[in-house]
Amino acid sequence: MSDYILAIDQGTTSSRAILYTIDMEVVTSAQEEFQQHFPKNGWVEHDPEDIWQTVLRTCRSVLARSNVSASSVKAIGITNQRETTLVWDRRTGEPVYNAIVWQDRRSSVFCQQLKDDGLEQRFQDKTGLLLDPYFSGTKLNWILNNVKNARERAERGELCFGTVDSYLLWRLSGGKVHATDASNASRTLLFNIHDQCWDSELMELLEIPLSMMPDVRDSADDYGVCDAKWLGAEIPVCSMIGDQQSALVGQACLEPGMLKSTYGTGCFAMVNTGDQAIISQHRLLTTVAYRIGGQTTYAIEGSIFMAGAIIQWLRDGVGILKDAADSESLARSVTHEQSEIMVPAFTGLGAPYWDPDARAAIFGMTRDTGAAQLVAAAIRSVAFQTEDLLQAMVQDGIEVKSLRVDGGMVKNRWFLQVLADLTGIPTVTSHTAETTAKGAALLAGLQIGRFRDLQELGSVWKIAENYTPSLPKANRETYYSRWLDAVARVRREEA
Ligand code: ADP
Repeated sequence: MSDYILAIDQGTTSSRAILYTIDMEVVTSAQEEFQQHFPKNGWVEHDPEDIWQTVLRTCRSVLARSNVSASSVKAIGITNQRETTLVWDRRTGEPVYNAIVWQDRRSSVFCQQLKDDGLEQRFQDKTGLLLDPYFSGTKLNWILNNVKNARERAERGELCFGTVDSYLLWRLSGGKVHATDASNASRTLLFNIHDQCWDSELMELLEIPLSMMPDVRDSADDYGVCDAKWLGAEIPVCSMIGDQQSALVGQACLEPGMLKSTYGTGCFAMVNTGDQAIISQHRLLTTVAYRIGGQTTYAIEGSIFMAGAIIQWLRDGVGILKDAADSESLARSVTHEQSEIMVPAFTGLGAPYWDPDARAAIFGMTRDTGAAQLVAAAIRSVAFQTEDLLQAMVQDGIEVKSLRVDGGMVKNRWFLQVLADLTGIPTVTSHTAETTAKGAALLAGLQIGRFRDLQELGSVWKIAENYTPSLPKANRETYYSRWLDAVARVRREEA
């Protein structure tokens, strides 16, 4: 009988389960969306029960549909939406509040107070992060201060905090294991990424009792077993890792200087920096990429809010595209010389600008400007934003050697050539689309001895397509300086 590995990818809008053979081939996958709750402007919540039930149902579905018995599944790997914050009762498992999702901005006033108190540098030095509501710590503070009796109960040791990985593990293990991995811990604003422990000074500043915190383990580790009542047999949970870090592993970016960039709704670029935690001088985030055998590997991360979402806007808002896929044929006729430049600051600008008040604009339009030019300018803007991140990385002393890309937008081959041209860096796609789930599956495989080491694990990765930069450097610099000029014109705030 063959052996299998089950990967759980718990995302922001849906949960997925993917069953792999021990040779890392996909057998079956299942996906289920769940409801987003927006109780107030800027607030985003998930019902913890939805998160759990969609995970459980998709896991059950892949086993049933592939006709694989739970006892043949040798390991579970979990990857998850990061930073989303849950608090539950240690005894009953009852959540005290909905999950507060990473996008939720409710703690922005508290973050500003901490910044006004001059604390941002302290947080950045210890956690690699910036004081932004994005991260878990200030969301957790909100729950303790706003949910009835939560603080008293937390202080009595009755409550557990966890990010989604931790909550799923708790549920899967039947309330036996309260743990997280170092990559997820590194997104909380409470974890000292140098000492690899919850930081007592930061815990005090955010008023969080230590008793709530999960045990921090390696990304490939012994996380106990999934209770037999869920899937029909006890299955060891062998890896947990945040989604972007998991994609880094899934793209086998396992050496310093290797970068993966995921182009979904937004874009997340992450570059491996090896055993060095480089604190960015350009407002990029420093984070734990993964921890294996007690050895921490770090990464630098930059995120862009609008990537594929711009194509959605052209389709649904403006109506010049019937389908996202049409963007490729439309843009193809438009050369790099185009005069139109779009700065897609619809919801402000992310890294490296972090300007929440900037707004989108299109510059350089003429009477010839039509749908094709708008679409091309939109796609180019994603490449220019990637170049912004790469420039910031270079200035932080990181040499990026190649771009490994994934996400919905990489179906657009014209985009990939433009990306290589405008960044001057060879751009490659992987033979598997599901790099996020794959990272967790690979780490689970490592834990059960399917791979000897990271090098062998990396050998599973295979290139699909390679796009070589074709623009002379001088042209690239001219186009980029036009982009920078356009960005300067939409900025509201100096960084
Ligand atoms: P997420 O995981 O953030 O939901 P996906 O990785 O599924 O996102 O990618 C979906 C995004 O990719 C959408 O925003 C869509 O506009 C974009 N997209 C899909 N196909 C294409 C295409 N052929 N060209 C450009 N963008 C595309």
